[in-house]
Amino acid sequence: MPKIISFDMDGTLVDPEFTDWVWLYGIPKLYAHKTGLSFDEAKALVVGEYQKVGEGAIEWYDIKYWFRLFQFDETWKTLMGRYADKISAFQDAPLILGRLKGKYPLVLTSNAGREFIEIEMDVTGMGKYFDRIFSATSDFKVVKKTTQFYQQICEILEAEPGEIVHVGDHYEFDYLVPQSLGIQAFYLDRSGKKNGNSILSDLRELEKKLDELGLLKSTGEED
Ligand SMILES: [Mg+2]
Repeated sequence: MPKIISFDMDGTLVDPEFTDWVWLYGIPKLYAHKTGLSFDEAKALVVGEYQKVGEGAIEWYDIKYWFRLFQFDETWKTLMGRYADKISAFQDAPLILGRLKGKYPLVLTSNAGREFIEIEMDVTGMGKYFDRIFSATSDFKVVKKTTQFYQQICEILEAEPGEIVHVGDHYEFDYLVPQSLGIQAFYLDRSGKKNGNSILSDLRELEKKLDELGLLKSTGEED
């Protein structure tokens, strides 16, 4: 029986468009304002700076780093707040979380920075479903959900990999990597193109999949 169910955040529970608004619109706009460049010029420059750092570096994910680098007058909190209306939960997300809450401890395992996790959970109201929230980049200083990352999560949760179910929309980092450790992973393919025992096109299918695998607990049942 799984003891714990773990969910990825962006692309799985929350529509990822908010992050694009912050990185590819909000920050370039502040930079344009500060320098007098046009938005397109500023965006090219800002994106060039992101690329110099690269997604393999921890700074890439750290909004505080970028605000220090660009020396904006405004705070990152103000900027995030401006685009908070772009944050939206996928419809199936609160439904499945509500159904699983109380049956299993639920954890959020994201590689977004803490600052993004906090506002996204706050605005969508989904923070209340989670017993623990882990940020790969903020808490473990790793930029990808590697095997070591999942191992650390298991240690912290005092669970064997086989006692954890993980669901996420990245084929490698939410599916292949945890699966390789023995975690029961489900790949969320919202396009619905892929089919298989470990593939979901909608989060609501998770209960059925757990049931098929003999992993579904009824409410309140002890493991
Ligand atoms: Mg994701």
